[in-house]
Amino acid sequence: MSLNSHIEWTDATWNPVRGCTKISPGCKHCYAETFAERFRGVKGHPYEQGFDLKLVPEKLIEPFSWRSPKLVFVNSMSDLFQEGVPDPYVEAVCRVMVAAKWHTFQVLTKRSERLKELLSGPLQFAAKQDHIWWGVSVEDKKYGLPRISDLQQAPAHVRFLSVEPLLEDLGEFDLSGINWVIVGGESGPGARPMQPEWVVSVRNQCRDSRVPFFFKQWGGVRKKKNGRKLDGKTYDEYPRRTTSPVPDRIRCLAHADEILDSFARAFRGSSLTQLTA
Ligand code: SF4
Repeated sequence: MSLNSHIEWTDATWNPVRGCTKISPGCKHCYAETFAERFRGVKGHPYEQGFDLKLVPEKLIEPFSWRSPKLVFVNSMSDLFQEGVPDPYVEAVCRVMVAAKWHTFQVLTKRSERLKELLSGPLQFAAKQDHIWWGVSVEDKKYGLPRISDLQQAPAHVRFLSVEPLLEDLGEFDLSGINWVIVGGESGPGARPMQPEWVVSVRNQCRDSRVPFFFKQWGGVRKKKNGRKLDGKTYDEYPRRTTSPVPDRIRCLAHADEILDSFARAFRGSSLTQLTA
């Protein structure tokens, strides 16, 4: 987990899972892969195994150590709903989020079908929480728009779209039941350019549907220079956040112990072992 994240729309990142596999055009220049692969083979480094999938149970209880409320981006270096993450582990991550309710968690996935399936079943207890925001990535029409539909069908209390990297004009799409939209262009070497009219179209649809709109960046090879103003304005809107009191340290430790115990019970004798080695 890291405080003071450089990601514009969050305060901190929490990574109880590391590594992922590419699934759609938005993954082409995945920053997490580039970062992780830099450390492949470096003994003792958290990313010694590069971008290979790894569960990190010792990170599960980290949110309990944050004593002030934060916006927490869950698995900035992975995708919680990828096929290789077993259901009991996804559930353990959700139990932490439900218990650490003084934070607001942002869970973003490209695996929207599994998100829908689990939130409609074993994760219903987490779907209903208003301090957990469930989001899907939308980079284009072919892969991105069907994810919106999956998210709309999932019984989530708060839903958001991360329209990044925006790779083409999305046209008109349905924003019903969506509580927040983030838009951003790709950055770094080989960045695919984003046209202003594509962004304006999404912003105007958000305006028409009264959905908070956050413009993250234009992106490009020189991201800082290109900035994050749209029509001369910075868009930093968020959904309404709920507040919960921060429990004292002893209660926090008790929560953490409960989670670890229940995880240890689920873990014993299961196939999770090979993914944590
Ligand atoms: S789903 Fe996300 S983390 Fe996984 S490869 Fe694609 S961009 Fe990277």
